[in-house]
Amino acid sequence: MIKILKPVAAPVVLTERGLTKTRADCRQYEEFASDYDAGRFRFTFDPTIYGDPTVRAALIAAQHGKCCFCETIVREEGDVEHFRPKGGFKQSKSGRLEKPGYYWLAYDWDNLLLACSICNQRYKQARFPLTNPVRRAANHHQDVLQEEPLLIHPAQTDPFPYVGFRQEIAYAKDGNRCGKTNIEVLGLNRANLIESRRDHLSHLTSLRSILGLTALVESTEGRKVMHDAGEYLRNATLDSSKFTSMTRSAAIDDFPISLV
Ligand SMILES: [Zn+2]
Repeated sequence: MIKILKPVAAPVVLTERGLTKTRADCRQYEEFASDYDAGRFRFTFDPTIYGDPTVRAALIAAQHGKCCFCETIVREEGDVEHFRPKGGFKQSKSGRLEKPGYYWLAYDWDNLLLACSICNQRYKQARFPLTNPVRRAANHHQDVLQEEPLLIHPAQTDPFPYVGFRQEIAYAKDGNRCGKTNIEVLGLNRANLIESRRDHLSHLTSLRSILGLTALVESTEGRKVMHDAGEYLRNATLDSSKFTSMTRSAAIDDFPISLV
């Protein structure tokens, strides 16, 4: 995970159709609060609003086409994910799904991110643990700013102090609780992801070795290979590359590659 810079201005579809729908949902809740709280009534969310092509395009641009959690490249195949779950939430994996969820944030720009379907649908799902669940905002009259989420919102908090990498393995820095929760809830050390990160790191390490060897070569071809390898390694630390957070950890910790 890396810090994401989302544009401040929300796509118009959210501030127009989204706002109208949110107001209608809030009026419904006012009238039938106990039914929504008990799960007897459910909100019907409109994916044509939060999943509108303009919303998706803005998220793809802000996140360089990457999943906001695992940093695999997804582009148009990514899900528009609700950081605070819109239709119900779970404090813990085995806990019950509590209703009605953060219905008033279903079309809220600040609550939307681009995620891969594995992080979103197989791992995070409706999980949204708080440090103190008593302070959870139960409806649109309560302020989410009173909450202390254990998941990191990468457009609001830089994940760097919380989640680091030892080679391709993610770990919670100093054993911090937010880092541990993110790794567990989002499956950041799932087998396929570890394998993809290992392959990427191995590729970078090989390039670093080539860079060392070609430094001794005087030929034009040798200098070209050295230039290309150096360029690739430098690009690998940019926000736009996959697994940037892991690559930056490798660069900082000087294992097994050091990037200049
Ligand atoms: Zn992902």
